[in-house]
Amino acid sequence: MDIEQFRKAGYNAIDRICDYYYNLQSMPVKSSVSPGYLAQHIPTNPPEQGEPWQQILDDYTEHIIPGLTHWQHPSFYGYFPTACSFPGILADLLASSTPNPGFNWSCSPACTELEALMMDWAADLLGLHKEFFNSSNKGGGVIQTTASDSALVAVVAARSRYQRLHPDVLFKDLIIYTTTQTHSLGLKAGLILGIGVRAIEVDAHDKYALRGSTLRKTLEDDAADGKHPFILIATLGTTSSGASDNMPEIRNIAKDYPSLWIHVDAAWAGVVFSCPEYRDKLYHTDINEMATSFCTNFHKWGLVNFDCSAFWVRDRSLLTEALDITPPFLRTKEGDSGQVVDYRNWHLALGRRFRSLKMWFVFRTYGVDGFQGYIRRCIGLNTLFQEKINETSSLLELVTTPSLSLSVIRISPAALSPSSSSSDSTDLSTQDFMNTLNQTFYSRLSARNDIFLTQTILNGAFCIRFSIGAELTTEDDICRAVDTLIEEAKNVVEELRV
Ligand code: PLP
Repeated sequence: MDIEQFRKAGYNAIDRICDYYYNLQSMPVKSSVSPGYLAQHIPTNPPEQGEPWQQILDDYTEHIIPGLTHWQHPSFYGYFPTACSFPGILADLLASSTPNPGFNWSCSPACTELEALMMDWAADLLGLHKEFFNSSNKGGGVIQTTASDSALVAVVAARSRYQRLHPDVLFKDLIIYTTTQTHSLGLKAGLILGIGVRAIEVDAHDKYALRGSTLRKTLEDDAADGKHPFILIATLGTTSSGASDNMPEIRNIAKDYPSLWIHVDAAWAGVVFSCPEYRDKLYHTDINEMATSFCTNFHKWGLVNFDCSAFWVRDRSLLTEALDITPPFLRTKEGDSGQVVDYRNWHLALGRRFRSLKMWFVFRTYGVDGFQGYIRRCIGLNTLFQEKINETSSLLELVTTPSLSLSVIRISPAALSPSSSSSDSTDLSTQDFMNTLNQTFYSRLSARNDIFLTQTILNGAFCIRFSIGAELTTEDDICRAVDTLIEEAKNVVEELRV
């Protein structure tokens, strides 16, 4: 493909993207292909001769699009939001038109410098403490691929710091603290590093939060047992229910354990700090004062296309002391001078993508106002969802207090009047029975391709998550989704009567 062919093909590809977004609403949200479908359409070998661009693009439309789940569809309520915005798409295109692995400042000064600036813009947007800013020259921010990578980097740096502070501690006695509600990233970090993970119980009566008393008791028990917890991965906005650990209580205890690194994983919820009215409710001050590191994914609920996991540390030397390896071929005079940041020492890999370009384009196109407007709109839609669920006359119930753009629901035990089934009414509300009923409810919803939801288990109860985030979702979509939920819930309850 030469430059002029590229120009034409590029316009054509943008046209296809526009058509896709024009048609998205009328498409099924979920792919209906069967496993292995693609091998029927794509040969087992690459072509001997190059093929015409038009044919490649046509095959993309014909064979790839039908196999996609449309995470930007207005009826996508599964997992968590996956950001996509037109400025983000264009920035990605431009970034990949000048690929360079950006590991040292000198690889492409603009890549490093824009990342440092954008992480400061993002810190400013979220109201983070000045210590976290790159401009502080003390702490700083770096873009990681995912929240899992951010947590892994935090664990590696925390381990390194702990071993420096306590050189006599045996590796086998180190332990990572998470909670039963922490994302699998905690277990994954332990698995990768060969370090034990303790999932501390949360308080199911207090919105699934880690409480200070439980943390303190676990720390004391582990100390008595010769164990050395060196990091706590606390969560702001858990995956299952949007719970937040009790940061003031954790902060109070952390004062007595200065070598315990506190990493706050706010993968999807952290961007809410862009709206000042949510800061106090969500422990903004405590996190600012206490967190050793903080992560939120702009690629989830932050309008920046995957990938863009923002990770800040209060003290950048904790990263470089753990991760700086400089063989002769990576040395540069600027790096040696200490005047520049070489981001390869702030993450696990060497090479890195030019992701800050996406942040720059998105922040400039939306402005703080537009960004906040998007977040507030999603929360408003979730409020509407809650109101509608509460109006369902006890057919459906909210299992936990809704969190920002996430609600968790199930068929309510109240939906089952004694006449609903021939079985003894006392059996109807048992957890097992309700779980079976709600699994059937979820199976029915999953069999549809006009709505996408995901499941979870909270305190033994099978539940369905409803996560809002697509920019295209409107109030009408929420009302339609609630109608769908009511219809399927009624079907399930009706079936019991037969
Ligand atoms: N942490 C929380 C609270 C999440 O909800 C998720 C995703 O669901 C993750 C971490 C994992 O994010 P990533 O895919 O960026 O590693």
